[in-house]
Amino acid sequence: MIRRITVLGAGTMGHGIAQVAAMAGYEVIMRDIEEKFIESGYNRIKKSLEKLVKKGKITREEADLILKRIKKTTNLEEAVKQADFVIEAVPEVFEIKAEVFKAVDELAPPHAIIATNTSSLPISELAEATNRPDKFVGMHFFNPPQIMKLVEVVRGNKTSEQTVNTTLELAKSMKKEPVVVNKDVPGFIVNRVLVRWLNEACLIVERGESDILTVDSSLKYVAELPMGAFELSDFIGIDVMRDIIRAMVKRGFKLTPCKSWDKLVEEGKLGAKSSLGFYDWSSGRPNIPKELSTKFDPKQVLAMAVNEGAWLVREGVASTEDVDKAVILGLNFPKGVLSMGDEWGLDVVKSIIEGKRSRYGLPEYEVDPLIEELVSKGFLGVKSGKGFHDYGLREEDLNQVKYKATPPIAWIILNRPDKLNALDMELLNSLRKALDMALDDEIKVVVITGSGKAFSAGADVSMFKGLSPIDAYRLSRELNEFFDELERYPKPTIASINGFALGGGLELAMACDLRVASDRAQLGQPEITLGIITGAGGSKRLPKLVGLAKAKELLFTGDIISADEAEKIGLVNRVVPHEKLEEEVRSLALKIASMPSNSIRLYKSILNGEQEPLAFGLVFSTEDSKEGINAFLEKRRPKFSGK
Ligand code: NAD
Repeated sequence: MIRRITVLGAGTMGHGIAQVAAMAGYEVIMRDIEEKFIESGYNRIKKSLEKLVKKGKITREEADLILKRIKKTTNLEEAVKQADFVIEAVPEVFEIKAEVFKAVDELAPPHAIIATNTSSLPISELAEATNRPDKFVGMHFFNPPQIMKLVEVVRGNKTSEQTVNTTLELAKSMKKEPVVVNKDVPGFIVNRVLVRWLNEACLIVERGESDILTVDSSLKYVAELPMGAFELSDFIGIDVMRDIIRAMVKRGFKLTPCKSWDKLVEEGKLGAKSSLGFYDWSSGRPNIPKELSTKFDPKQVLAMAVNEGAWLVREGVASTEDVDKAVILGLNFPKGVLSMGDEWGLDVVKSIIEGKRSRYGLPEYEVDPLIEELVSKGFLGVKSGKGFHDYGLREEDLNQVKYKATPPIAWIILNRPDKLNALDMELLNSLRKALDMALDDEIKVVVITGSGKAFSAGADVSMFKGLSPIDAYRLSRELNEFFDELERYPKPTIASINGFALGGGLELAMACDLRVASDRAQLGQPEITLGIITGAGGSKRLPKLVGLAKAKELLFTGDIISADEAEKIGLVNRVVPHEKLEEEVRSLALKIASMPSNSIRLYKSILNGEQEPLAFGLVFSTEDSKEGINAFLEKRRPKFSGK
């Protein structure tokens, strides 16, 4: 059992680790080589605890107890002689660390585990400085350790299973979220992924394919990363980046370093800390204009990070889940790189890297064999129900409608392409059945789309021939009820308008919550040209979306308008290039799926006429409201459960 933890080094990392350990209830001894370094580290801990007291996170009594648990010393023997677990955070120099480990090995009790916080040195070689390589492990915290949840637990080639498990348990007891790095590879998980995309962004600009602001804008606003590549490089420090890359390349990491790292360091432009780097930081964080975001595809940068993730999994360095978890917690990505690749399609990732290879021929532009294998098996990611992750694909052919569940999305595809997906009773019944199937808990968003050239070109006109007024009334009542039900459907719905959406087809699309149209789509309510009027709620929904005047114009003329025109008047939410429709709809659906489903349900009922105060009261009975508010206050990403 671990009770006493020794932290070697009271610098940036050491003092933070000592604080975290003391807060978890351990007896801590913090050791540095000089009194003044220890005092400085100790004062930083005091200040940090003071802040927590001010914020009401801990009481003053607790802060005092935590501080009391931390002893200070410059004497190594005193520091380690009773230790159960030693965490080293001394400077990143092999010889210094090796010397420290040799001494610790001689002075610490035989049962003590020795962990290193190194970012770049080989764990297995450091372990050789001791006579207990089985009890030697990497425990890589992130800066600042008090805040960053991730810890990479790195196995050296002789580290025992028990040592790994004890270290994992220790990290968890410190309220950290550990991942296991099974092989001692340079950069572990996070730095390998980090270096891949930051260096790729830099190469892209160096080659003149785009510019710094445009690349960063797309990474921030399209890929939704917390910082662009150049902003983040400046923030980390250009010298630090250069050193990480040098150390990794020296140990065999296949990468062509961008020339800017050396050049900027030579010019003394070290990033935020020196006010100049890729950006000028003299008046704060760089201003990255959102308008540029669509002028570059961030996949061109991030595909390299996905490829690196694939390498880590294939080489057995980490599990799929741990790679994604490490990227989310260590880099603050909104999702893991492997999930990202699955969302875009692994065929897309593959073709981006192949394109780079044929244009520039750099050794790192090699599609990882795992991606090759998944693509060759048809496992392309979310769209095929399996990629790096398994999405539980379920497909069913209903009459004239296809149902395809790739949780959290259900795709309902009107499948009567020879008749431009004209709506008849059979098709509508199948649509109803598919909507029932999508009530499955795993499904968070429903997409309705059409196969072939049309979303739906409207009601099957042959249905109207010889229809008596009373039957016409009944038909319209049934259609109205069905589409009203669809409007009130408990999950968000998106109409993915792949082509014609006319008459009943447009009425169906309007009963969905959102509409995304292909740039080839054409929309309209041409009923008037048949001498009839809309019968499935069109005249009621159209004015809500486009206003009374435009609605009257469309209804009275029967005009068919382009997707762009439809976007301009508010009939569709957005227009995207035809070949990107599925991808764009998927990414919108996934974004909505990540939101708390109860809030969406309540929004829908308010928008359909329920009272907001009542719904506001109800939302406070959900788990997700507690999680969302706590996460905000704790400055972390919320994890919504749908409860
Ligand atoms: P730092 O320079 O801030 O602190 C190192 C401390 O170790 C100094 O106070 C120094 O006086 C002390 N020291 C030197 N020799 C010692 C010895 N023999 N015994 C005890 N203390 C000794 O460095 P840091 O940023 O805290 O980095 C420490 C380790 O953590 C490095 O291996 C680094 O790669 C790793 N790391 C750093 C970061 C980061 O962002 N700074 C993140 C993860 C890991």
